[in-house]
Amino acid sequence: MCEICFGTNAPRTVISWKRRDLMRAFAGGAAALALPACETTTNPETGRGQFILVSDEQMSQAALQAWAQVRQQTPAWSNRTAQQRLERVGMRVAQGAGRGGQQWEFQLFDSPQKNAFVLPGNKVGFYRGLYEMSERDDWMATVLGHEVGHVTGRHAAERYSRELATQTALQVAGSQINSRIAMAALGLGAQVGLSLPFSREQESEADILGINYMQAAGYDPRQAIPFWNAMNSGGGSRPPELLSTHPDPANRIERIRNYINERGWGPA
Ligand SMILES: [Zn+2]
Repeated sequence: MCEICFGTNAPRTVISWKRRDLMRAFAGGAAALALPACETTTNPETGRGQFILVSDEQMSQAALQAWAQVRQQTPAWSNRTAQQRLERVGMRVAQGAGRGGQQWEFQLFDSPQKNAFVLPGNKVGFYRGLYEMSERDDWMATVLGHEVGHVTGRHAAERYSRELATQTALQVAGSQINSRIAMAALGLGAQVGLSLPFSREQESEADILGINYMQAAGYDPRQAIPFWNAMNSGGGSRPPELLSTHPDPANRIERIRNYINERGWGPA
């Protein structure tokens, strides 16, 4: 999910980054790169080793301004009932992920897109188009589980670190370049001509983490199957970046189905 996962429209936002945020983030990266060997950290949520040069706090700081500008430039959907439902399901899923003690922000945007996104710092955007097809709470929980999975998977930090290391290695580092990378890492790269989507691996990981979280929250993980089928059948035209980065829809559903059955939560 996220504008990246679904590939449709990234928020049409021009971000002016706080220079100090970038410099702070970059200082962390430079320090890490000065080490003789780049170490990976193991993500306790997945057991997967990740190359990460920035802290979650740094990513959250960098995302704050982006979030404010997205909110400023994208009309909110003022529907009290819908907003309450989104927050209720969202918080339950966050609790299922063991992140209920953190602050979360869930925002409905008035757009027909069937899409959602997440920014570091637990900021979740959810579009009206997706809300209107989320007829069951289990379907909404499928989306929200996936978005929470990007957070616990530290996918934005991983993406940013990878790009930062590449750019630094090429010695083209500079505040201009780094702000472009930072924007791209947050999924806002379309405006600066640098597309940096979540990888297939990250998308699949978010899917599986999301299934775990919705199940732990008491939702029916089997409902992820009809949800994704509905998404695929009503998807309309898909932009190229979706095709190149998104897991193949049939494979995606098959992988989710197998996982649910393996865990004994099926038959899915
Ligand atoms: Zn995603």
